[in-house]
Amino acid sequence: MNCIFCKIIKKEIPCNLLYEDESCFVFLDIKPITKGHTLVVPKKHSENLLDIEEKDVLHCMNLIKKLGPKIMKAMKADGFNVGQNNFSAAGQTVMHTHFHIIPRYKNDGLKNWQNKDTSADALLQAEKEIKKALRVP
Ligand code: 5GP
Ligand code: ZN
Repeated sequence: MNCIFCKIIKKEIPCNLLYEDESCFVFLDIKPITKGHTLVVPKKHSENLLDIEEKDVLHCMNLIKKLGPKIMKAMKADGFNVGQNNFSAAGQTVMHTHFHIIPRYKNDGLKNWQNKDTSADALLQAEKEIKKALRVP
């Protein structure tokens, strides 16, 4: 499989490895959004949250909880974002499930997602459509 993260995990391609255990690889993003931008990557290949095994999600989340504050402290950051993109429309460029830890600095100039005003009707419509989908197993 021509997956860049699988190659990194197999150590065919170098990375700045921060942490490794039986099921996860944690390394610096090669094009960091901010200093210390880290990727938490399950060793077992999956494409996104739809096909990743639940135990891998849980393990990644536990790691993010443990490592996020340590990365923040090491980078003298003031906060951190956790991100995860599914499908190219959402900005996913590497089709191997991964989570971003992005240290944030006061005045780093980054803008978070912009919320928009909407109508009560539009909210109700979305509520109905999602609830209908949630009833399908
Ligand atoms: P996505 O947009 O898919 O959520 O994030 C993929 C991330 O992987 C990007 O932030 C990108 O900079 C990073 N990335 C892509 N190729 C490599 C690589 O070869 N090595 C490392 N360390 N990061 C990579
Ligand atoms: Zn892969």
